[in-house]
Amino acid sequence: MRSHFEMNATLQFSGEITTEAQAALKKLIEDSNRVHFWKGVPKGVTDPAEIGQITGIPQFGKNSVDLSFSSGPYTRVHDALFRFRKQVAPVMGRHRLGLRGIEVNGYRITVSGDFPEGFHSPRLPFIRESSLEDGTLTLVLDVSESDLENKIPDRLVRLVEEKVQAATYGGKGEHWDLVFESGKKPRYSDADPTAEMVKRGWIKHSSARGQWIHGPQSVQLFRAFEKIVLDEIIGPMGFSEMIFPKLVPWDVWKRSGHAKGVYPEIYYVCTPKTRDPSFWEDIGDYFKVTGEVWVEEIKKRIDGPIGGLCYAQCPPFWPFLQGETLANDCLPARIFDRSGTSHRYESGGIHGIERVDEFHRIEVLWLGTAEQTVQIADDLHEAYRHVFEDILELEWRCARVTPWFMAQEGMIDTGEPGQECGCGARIGTMDYEAFLPYSSNWLEFQNVSINGDKYPKGFSVKIQSGADCWSGCSGIGLERWTAAFLAQKGLDIENWPSGVAEIVGELNELFKFL
Ligand code: ATP
Ligand code: ZN
Ligand code: MG
Repeated sequence: MRSHFEMNATLQFSGEITTEAQAALKKLIEDSNRVHFWKGVPKGVTDPAEIGQITGIPQFGKNSVDLSFSSGPYTRVHDALFRFRKQVAPVMGRHRLGLRGIEVNGYRITVSGDFPEGFHSPRLPFIRESSLEDGTLTLVLDVSESDLENKIPDRLVRLVEEKVQAATYGGKGEHWDLVFESGKKPRYSDADPTAEMVKRGWIKHSSARGQWIHGPQSVQLFRAFEKIVLDEIIGPMGFSEMIFPKLVPWDVWKRSGHAKGVYPEIYYVCTPKTRDPSFWEDIGDYFKVTGEVWVEEIKKRIDGPIGGLCYAQCPPFWPFLQGETLANDCLPARIFDRSGTSHRYESGGIHGIERVDEFHRIEVLWLGTAEQTVQIADDLHEAYRHVFEDILELEWRCARVTPWFMAQEGMIDTGEPGQECGCGARIGTMDYEAFLPYSSNWLEFQNVSINGDKYPKGFSVKIQSGADCWSGCSGIGLERWTAAFLAQKGLDIENWPSGVAEIVGELNELFKFL
């Protein structure tokens, strides 16, 4: 993709621009076009059309001058403007003129390249007009000087490139490379485990969407899995328990990157405008009189959303380390959280207990140098393998998946310096999947991700030695483990592998319904 930038800006000065001052400014424009704007441009680039230039003749007003800028990808027009601004102060100072302000009168970006079918331009407040014709996207912007300081045009170009890539990848979603596949294991069921659990009264649907009430029997199995994870993985590998918050404010998702696109699946959280009871009195009265909750009116009396309920479990941990430098000898740090639910709006996708809006996970998280982070992922993989092979006796497989956005965010190794260890090639996710005999599908029941420096960078975490800080995480979905296990082994304990059956013990049949 090739991008081209054009901008008109007015520079306001503190007094009248005399003929001598005009001459000095023209001289500065020439010097800038010939020298200053070329600084930092790669050697091979020689065409001035690629570089920021002040084009045309400056239009002088009494106290102001109008300038036109154009550029290709190097020293983009706004960078050229700011470089010029820096030079203007001393030059015009000699004529007793100070720069009072800059007004951006017009800003146009054109991007040319292969736009896929169905591509549409971003819809954002800065974009006054946009059109796509003959492979050229034109964006006319409304931007202020401070928008330019915030690099809005650069980010828009990047966004357009990302959207083109996303549309090109289309449905492909992710690469999928098989890493391990277990052999066949004894199967004792070909029924949908959720339906079976409901039949035996182990679970009941609650009144919220995608939410179950787990009876004692179901919880016995959850806790058995937790115990196995604690005894076989978390304990021996030395993970320490922490409690991560479950209400996640925007600031955390801004830093974790989730703010880029998690919106369709968030459970949003709002706060009351005030906790003054008189402000809310009529809302309660309305219910007392009508038996209905006055939702339309409540919407007017709340602030936010201030964020959402836990989506991925690890982001709200990171403020614990934010801005810190970690001592070498506390690394690698290994922690886990199992303190609460995760929530996702799965919409029409909800299915059984395995795809729900409210679920339970043990989140395992570790950080350290790149080598330490990769090593722990490998150790974890071995521990999981032992659990699925020898204790749960599952039919499972695991595969390396690279979501396209990761590839595109440059998170995959490109052999950059500092990655001699080859660790960079390991960034990405391993999905663990179990076979569901009743549907002949594979269900992702957990994953292990090596996230590179994404979180430490986002939350400004450093290591004493100066080495890059990396992290990894693994979300163990208890609903998914349960669904996978019961789908293969059925609900009769006598068919379960002893390592699970012994921990569960006798099922607690607490309720009897008449
Ligand atoms: P899927 O592709 O199945 O939607 P995902 O890629 O959204 O899964 P991750 O974001 O990787 O899942 O979440 C990690 C783990 O959290 C999953 O392996 C699974 O165990 C659990 N999980 C995610 N979404 C749900 C859900 N809706 N219901 C139950 N468990 C879930
Ligand atoms: Zn995580
Ligand atoms: Mg999902």
